[in-house]
Amino acid sequence: MIPITAVKLDPATEDLVLDVVRSGMLAQGEYVAQLEEAFAAVHGVSHAIAVNNGTTALVVALEALGLGPGDEVITTPFTFVATLNAILEAGATARFVDIGSDFNIDPALLADAITPATKAIMPVHLYGYMADMDPIVEVAQANDLAIVEDAAQAVAADYKGARAGSIGVGCFSLYATKNVSTGEGGMVTTNDDDLADRIRLLRNQGMRARYQYEVAGHNYRLTNLAAAIGIPQMATINTVNEARQKNAAALRAGLAGITGLELPVEPEAGRTHVYHQFTIRITEDSPISRDEFVETLPTRGVGCGIYYPKVVFDYDCYREHPGVVISDVPNAFKAASEVVSIPVHPHLSESDLDEIVSTIASVMSS
Ligand SMILES: *Cc1c(COP(=O)(O)O)cnc(C)c1O
Repeated sequence: MIPITAVKLDPATEDLVLDVVRSGMLAQGEYVAQLEEAFAAVHGVSHAIAVNNGTTALVVALEALGLGPGDEVITTPFTFVATLNAILEAGATARFVDIGSDFNIDPALLADAITPATKAIMPVHLYGYMADMDPIVEVAQANDLAIVEDAAQAVAADYKGARAGSIGVGCFSLYATKNVSTGEGGMVTTNDDDLADRIRLLRNQGMRARYQYEVAGHNYRLTNLAAAIGIPQMATINTVNEARQKNAAALRAGLAGITGLELPVEPEAGRTHVYHQFTIRITEDSPISRDEFVETLPTRGVGCGIYYPKVVFDYDCYREHPGVVISDVPNAFKAASEVVSIPVHPHLSESDLDEIVSTIASVMSS
């Protein structure tokens, strides 16, 4: 079976983890600061603040920006549930703007969604392809809105010379299957010194110095043990992303021209896709349904996944939630019914790629 994700850590990781274990410094220690420094350098920002997961990264970013009850955040309806949960956890209200052909929030629809309560836009760089940030920045500036980038899937992706997380406040996930992983973990990036200071306070119980509390905070700290696992990956992230891009190119070439199969949009120049996922659409022209496709592929030795099977608010617990403003998002509903992600991870061999292509071609001609 060719799996949809494969996690293989650099042997150098073992030495760092052993060092933490032997030192007994499981929670606090020098590796958290080292990981933060490396992460900031990779993303070209002045601050990277490590937290315990990508969801708390989003929550703490919103809170540090001063968002809370009564404030609205505009986001995409086609995302992992954490995007929405973070907005609700911060006490704010989520409003949705439909997606474009790149699977990301459609900037052309933003202006109409802004209300007097809107305080922030939260684009998600889905599958590792950054949202179209220039027009998003334009709308944000014109309306005095903050930008919080959900860059959970977009470590070291670029948009016209700017790295993910360097345009707005960047929120990353270091979850087990993300392009950089510490098992569980997250990172917040910013160039704003004051904001970074507030995030650091909120991360650690609101504490400035021992037992000096300035705000009601959280425990969102990343452990030293987890940070050690991430450090060797910061040195290799660009080559890992290049391997994903190379695999994506092979999949594009092999899968072109199959009836009923739509490839992901070709990335624009200067807008690098880091292919956290390679996501195709099984359209209505296909001889088999998307759900049949997803059932069949693993029986033929190729793993796959649906990210995501439903629009994020399309569950009773959100449809009836006072913090969720439902809107008409036909493109997101269509995407949720058509998408399938296939293996693109950096540990695929050339024969794996050939097999993925030939298996899909065969399944689609059945
Ligand atoms: C993974 C992910 C998150 C949340 O990250 P966790 O580390 O799992 O909390 C948020 N948004 C998106 C788009 C993600 O893919």
